[in-house]
Amino acid sequence: MNKPLLTIAVPCCNEEEVLQETSNQLLRVLTSLIKDNLIQPDSKILFIDDGSRDHTWALIEALVKKSTYLTGLKLTRNFGHQNALLAGLQVAGKHSDCIITIDADLQDDIQVIRTFVERYQEGYDIVYGVRRSRQTDSFFKRNTAQGFYRFMTKLGIKMVYNHADFRLLSKKALKELSRYGEQNMFLRGIIPLLGLTSTEVQYDRKERMAGETKYPLKKMLSFAFNGITSFSIVPIRLIMTVGIMAFFLSSLFGVYALFAKFFGHTDSGWTSIMISLWFLGGLLLISVGLIGEYIGKIYEETKHRPRFSVENDLFSSAFKERKVP
Ligand code: UDP
Ligand code: MG
Repeated sequence: MNKPLLTIAVPCCNEEEVLQETSNQLLRVLTSLIKDNLIQPDSKILFIDDGSRDHTWALIEALVKKSTYLTGLKLTRNFGHQNALLAGLQVAGKHSDCIITIDADLQDDIQVIRTFVERYQEGYDIVYGVRRSRQTDSFFKRNTAQGFYRFMTKLGIKMVYNHADFRLLSKKALKELSRYGEQNMFLRGIIPLLGLTSTEVQYDRKERMAGETKYPLKKMLSFAFNGITSFSIVPIRLIMTVGIMAFFLSSLFGVYALFAKFFGHTDSGWTSIMISLWFLGGLLLISVGLIGEYIGKIYEETKHRPRFSVENDLFSSAFKERKVP
């Protein structure tokens, strides 16, 4: 049977309150998989510290000292969730047959990690964890998330419904993913683009164990907006469509206005001028803003800045040490 070298990658940003518990639970799963001969004995759990300002890194270092299954990667500053994931995938990808990514807050059901591995052994390159219910999310988050998925699908962006960043990627998937060099890595949108064999595993999403969400409304909106503008130019086309429609309507209105002027139905015109002025002014500002957003994206991409920088890589150094005779 195909017994992979597995790495479980966990991005952590100010997670000192949950990390100990997360580590205990993940360790239990990992060791039971090793015991049942499903994965290689040198499989690892990799905590990625994404510029935490609390004691997360100190805690990770302490954990790493206690168990050889645990290891850590410290980024030089906060690069954001998606880049922290990417850092984990790139660093661990060199020494793993497959990687499972999971959030640090134990919202995802770690028991399905076993099912992920089984699916991998059946030959799937990508296994998506999909939330069966969103009962623990607020009414608002549930509905906005649903709206977001629908909107993305309408724009022609293939996304797995109710799937966050809890997934398994095979070596092949990692290799393909590494060819995507965009600054704005919206993994949920990119991974379905790889076109590799994939399957879904359902689970129930729980409440955050402790600590606070790092995705308050403002960040969530910007995440969604980034997802849209990184993947689709439909919004820009929409501007054009609205522009054409406005032009057409205003031509009709022009004809009516001339007709009214010459045949005696003129009024002071204040209302119509004000309405069209504000309406068009608003529309123009939105349009310019939207185009600016895309130009900003182009600007960011052309700089080719690194998407993350590593300060301390305990994962690779552990592998190097082992190679020394
Ligand atoms: N996270 C990160 N960098 C950030 C923000 C978040 O590495 O800048 C991590 C965080 O520690 C957690 C995961 O990303 O493990 C998801 O964040 P969170 O649980 O706050 O998001 P939510 O589940 O509320 O959407
Ligand atoms: Mg969470």
